[in-house]
Amino acid sequence: MHTSADLPLTEAEIQGIRQDFPILQQQVHGHPLVYLDSGATSQRPLAVLDAERAFASTLNAAVHRGAHTLAAEATVLFEDARAALAGFIGAEEDEVVWTSNATEAVNLVAYAISNASMGRGGEAAAGLRIGPGDEIVTTEMEHHANLVPWQELAARTGATLRVIPLDDDGALRLDAAAELIGPRTRLVAVTHVSNVLGVINPVAEVIALARAAGALVLLDACQSAPHLPLDVKALDVDFAVLSGHKMLGPTGIGALYGRRDLLEIMPPFLTGGSMITTVTTTGAEYLPPPQRFEAGTQRVSQAVALAEAVRYLENVGMPRIAAHEAELGARLVAGLGAIDGVRVLGGGIDLPRVGLASVDVAGIHAHDVGQFLDDAGIAVRVGHHCAQPLHRRLGVTASTRASTYLYTTRDEVDAVIDGVARTIDFFR
Ligand code: PLP
Repeated sequence: MHTSADLPLTEAEIQGIRQDFPILQQQVHGHPLVYLDSGATSQRPLAVLDAERAFASTLNAAVHRGAHTLAAEATVLFEDARAALAGFIGAEEDEVVWTSNATEAVNLVAYAISNASMGRGGEAAAGLRIGPGDEIVTTEMEHHANLVPWQELAARTGATLRVIPLDDDGALRLDAAAELIGPRTRLVAVTHVSNVLGVINPVAEVIALARAAGALVLLDACQSAPHLPLDVKALDVDFAVLSGHKMLGPTGIGALYGRRDLLEIMPPFLTGGSMITTVTTTGAEYLPPPQRFEAGTQRVSQAVALAEAVRYLENVGMPRIAAHEAELGARLVAGLGAIDGVRVLGGGIDLPRVGLASVDVAGIHAHDVGQFLDDAGIAVRVGHHCAQPLHRRLGVTASTRASTYLYTTRDEVDAVIDGVARTIDFFR
């Protein structure tokens, strides 16, 4: 049963939200823009745009150094932003590391493990070492960002990468996961929500398997943090990664959540300025986390703006955004799936999902579908969406993806369904 806190957004509320997004007010090819590519990057409300500009015009300074007022105030805002993001995902402030995006966050963990495996971090990091005989487990539906770094880690350390397969509908095979995850498993890297299927994975089951095997868990929260309430402690993951630009924030900023005791023993990935206590010409001592993992001048205005994005999302309410997305996702899947010649990847109208669906249109290349829709002002994503193994498993090379957000109306969902139907009429 719905309570007022998790009811889908009303039409009036969506229209009110849209007023905060100047980019949505424009026309493309003479049509009102229908932006259905939030899965790639979301749009930013005025509060976020203003926060970045206000920082740049009044406080612009490097943080954690400099004795002057601007530097001190910028540092306070930068650390407040960290606290805001930590609160948003249920973490402690010092468990959030700023990165440039989710890709860098995954690499940070992979390189920390690889550096530990080479003896860096000393005996304290010994528990992170992996090598021949050890296994890293991921899934066939991962974005390349949560696959290629593990392939590289396996190649560098001699560990083996195992991949949880999908069934013909694109669902994670939990039976196979139960067989793959075992005493040799050291880390399980899994996506919370597929960026192609939009389905919310049964991650609790996968995490339980990892825990029973004594393995670490990294959650790719890129497609969940923007759309669902996320609590990394309740989920009991060791690491989680996300990208700011997918959750109303700017590009150039992402974050790694890491359990404090793990961050404390992890050797750094990037090294240089801002992450050290003492440096001689022969060696260096490192700061505690999170600064140990934040080498170089930081993306301060982006962090400040991302905190504003978090406040915007919290103000609307994540349970309500999730309910809105679930409704739009079901509408997308039902509408697109009812068109003759359209196959919704991952099908399953009853599966829990966010507002994202990808389709294969028989006989028409995804690029042609995307082009036709763009002519009508409808922005979708076409291609393999950085998930080639998933597409290969489902027997297609490319797909057309529509993805929604809190500013997406039901009419926009209907517009893309109608647009795909008209594409078929046009090309046949
Ligand atoms: N993981 C998932 C599920 C994604 O959808 C994306 C981006 O599309 C990423 C990882 C990588 O994010 P970024 O390119 O911002 O690092």
